[in-house]
Amino acid sequence: MKFNTKTIHGGQEYDKAYGAVMPPIYQTSTYAQTTPGGHKGYEYSRTHNPTRTALENSLASIENGKYGLAFGSGLAAIDAILKLLKPGDEVLSTNDLYGGTYRLFTKVYEDFGIKFRFVGMENADNLEEHISSATKLIWVETPTNPMMNIVDIEKVSAIAKKNDLLLAVDNTFATPYLQQPLDLGADIVMHSATKYLGGHSDVVMGALVVNDRELADKLYFIQNASGAICGPMDSFLVLRGIKTLHIRMQRHCENGRKVALFLTEHPRVEKVYWPGLEDHPNHDIAKKQMRDFGGMVSFVTRGNDFDKAIRMVENLKVFTLAESLGGVESLAGHPASMTHASIPKEERERSGVVDSLIRLSVGIEDIEDLIEDLRRALD
Ligand SMILES: *Cc1c(COP(=O)(O)O)cnc(C)c1O
Repeated sequence: MKFNTKTIHGGQEYDKAYGAVMPPIYQTSTYAQTTPGGHKGYEYSRTHNPTRTALENSLASIENGKYGLAFGSGLAAIDAILKLLKPGDEVLSTNDLYGGTYRLFTKVYEDFGIKFRFVGMENADNLEEHISSATKLIWVETPTNPMMNIVDIEKVSAIAKKNDLLLAVDNTFATPYLQQPLDLGADIVMHSATKYLGGHSDVVMGALVVNDRELADKLYFIQNASGAICGPMDSFLVLRGIKTLHIRMQRHCENGRKVALFLTEHPRVEKVYWPGLEDHPNHDIAKKQMRDFGGMVSFVTRGNDFDKAIRMVENLKVFTLAESLGGVESLAGHPASMTHASIPKEERERSGVVDSLIRLSVGIEDIEDLIEDLRRALD
């Protein structure tokens, strides 16, 4: 089955009771048993729920994996991965990272004795220098937020395999429409399904997909034992979102390209970060591992003026000033005062998050309205 068919049919079967084409929302916590242990595969909804199972099968299918797991949020999914580790273990992570992931690593799991090393992986040549006998997991985000850095998944995967390490890839920005990390050698794919998979900014959810049975069993155990699951209604919503993932992504990419090119030519814009631009430092890797370049675009305005950048985002009318990304509607954010405000100025500027950096999640509205909105706000 090809990807565009998998988003609609992958892992799905018609409802056995009445042939419902869409999986019913099994809004139940428990299931009747005819005799102790005599049930139809479902006992209690923390462990399993048929709507969640339908979603988990869909997730596995679109990521070309065998086993899917859904969680109450993206961070709950990352939390489950970290629970595979023990005190003393080390994680090697990309250094340009979603803020919530960084917070979970350093403010929660460091207290449990897990160590994190943050290194730039845009050039993975010297990655092995950072691996010690305690290293167990490599954590990769690509493209990164908000700088749109690209990491070569295949190259990092070869290093992980050689050193017997797990490789987990946060695929939230790219989605399986653009890249399928398991096919490139990753062991675990992670999603904030809140973003493109859900696609309509109406649900918070996380997901994992793996191929290895033993690893899947450990994660299913953690999912049930820790209990950070998602409910049946949310499972239904994300399942519905996934059915249009391919056409939404196609338009996100088309609009993202036009916005990136418009910004590149605007006299008030200093620099545009989008992996589809030829001057992007890892454009060649992006071209190799991604099918297109996505709808996330960051840019810096000339003069790097904090107040002017704020005024620019306040003056947008079609773009909504908000956190999050990946929905059908266009959003704009100012990382220095929003997502990255808690990071000291010098530290955030070292990774490129300067005062006038603006991040756009380009939606699927009419491109002329989006460009006009940006032009008016920039002027
Ligand atoms: C939003 C996000 C997360 C966290 O997911 P939640 O669903 O908000 O818990 C993790 N990684 C990336 C890249 C994200 O954008």
